[in-house]
Amino acid sequence: MRVQCSICDKIETIDDDTLIAKRLRNRPIHTYMCQECHDRITKKTEERLKTGKFTFHPGQQKKEKVKK
Ligand SMILES: [Zn+2]
Repeated sequence: MRVQCSICDKIETIDDDTLIAKRLRNRPIHTYMCQECHDRITKKTEERLKTGKFTFHPGQQKKEKVKK
C-alpha cells in the first residue's frame, strides 16, 4: 500500500502484511511517519533528554469562559 509521511509528505510504498500497514488501514493515513522523519524526531528527543531541558509552560493558565 502507498503511504504518505505526515511530516515531509514523502510517499512510500510499504508491504501490506506489515504491522504498520495493518494499523494504517484502521487509522487515517496521516498517522504515518517515514523512517527519515522518525529518525530525526528520535534524535531530537534524545538530545532534549540529554540536556534535561524541557519546555513546559507553567505560566499558562486556563482562561475562564465567560458566558454570554
Ligand atoms: Zn518524512
